Amino acid sequence: MICDMCGSEGKLYKTIIEDAQLNVCHECSKFGKVTAIVEQKDATIKESKSNQELQTEVMEIIVEDYAEKIRKKRESLGLKQGEFAKKISEKESLIQKIESGHLEPSLGLAKKIGSFLKIKLTEEHEETHEKQSKTKTDSFTIGDFIKIKGK
Ligand SMILES: [Zn+2]
Repeated sequence: MICDMCGSEGKLYKTIIEDAQLNVCHECSKFGKVTAIVEQKDATIKESKSNQELQTEVMEIIVEDYAEKIRKKRESLGLKQGEFAKKISEKESLIQKIESGHLEPSLGLAKKIGSFLKIKLTEEHEETHEKQSKTKTDSFTIGDFIKIKGK
């Protein structure tokens, strides 16, 4: 960034001098009216941001008010808990527990119930977190995990 008037390098100011807008240094800006500071594009800030590796994970979770949603929809269809349980080939006791909020259905079950009742019982939950530092991930690789599982 070089001053339009004297050619010196440094911080520049948008300055109106004799009806012309120039980017000039602090010294030259005294000859006119400063309107703004010329912003230097800071490449270093951008770089450090991209170096920070962020991982976005989309998880599917059960909606908070699943119990109420299931019960209301089932009742609106005129189905008793037992009838509903039979339709989706699950136990009535299971439906009771789910509808009372004592048992959170698994994702698979929530989808089965949801598709039968035509309601959405799952939602996507986005989680962003920084990647673990290399030293941490190196200590436990996926290969190790498979080995342990295979035992
Ligand atoms: Zn100057």
